[in-house]
Amino acid sequence: MRRGFYIGRFQPYHNGHQSVLEHISREVDEIVIGIGSAQISHLPDNPFTAGERVLMITRALASLGCPFYVIPIEDILRNALWVAHVQAMTPPFDLCYSSNPLVMQLFKEAEITVQSPAMYERETLSGTAIRSRMINGEPWKNLVPPVVVQVLDEIDGVERLRQISQKD
Ligand code: ATP
Ligand code: MG
Repeated sequence: MRRGFYIGRFQPYHNGHQSVLEHISREVDEIVIGIGSAQISHLPDNPFTAGERVLMITRALASLGCPFYVIPIEDILRNALWVAHVQAMTPPFDLCYSSNPLVMQLFKEAEITVQSPAMYERETLSGTAIRSRMINGEPWKNLVPPVVVQVLDEIDGVERLRQISQKD
């Protein structure tokens, strides 16, 4: 049984994440997905709750054909202990998939194999770019899986993001 770990904030979950997870699903038996900064929501860079992000990911991966676990992980603000914190919250895994330099460094120091998935259309497929499009009323629905559009509709996510991004 080979389990792979993938972590992000998924603010929101987008087609870049989906492509990476489809790739990972062909290499491992099970996937553990960590939702980072799980305690943060209702901020311009982190608008959605961990529960809302669980919903986006779970629905988007419904037909992945590879078992997966979605696990919210709160920040501990202590990088030296972070990998142990992650491991305490997740099923055991054999390797970590990440392109984030800090995440890669921390897992390597813990002697866990790290693989860096290729970036897919990083210019447009980035949480930062998508949040900015939402705020500015530019097209964004083609950049996330259709079920994510549905979740964002249900929670009135774009309106929330616009509201909390305003100055008083
Ligand atoms: P933000 O701009 O808010 O940081 P993001 O698009 O980088 O959002 P994260 O949740 O930070 O999304 O990313 C989780 C993981 O997904 C990271 O390892 C990141 O490198 C990776 N990732 C993000 N966008 C893509 C993409 N377009 N293709 C492949 N991997 C991606
Ligand atoms: Mg990022």
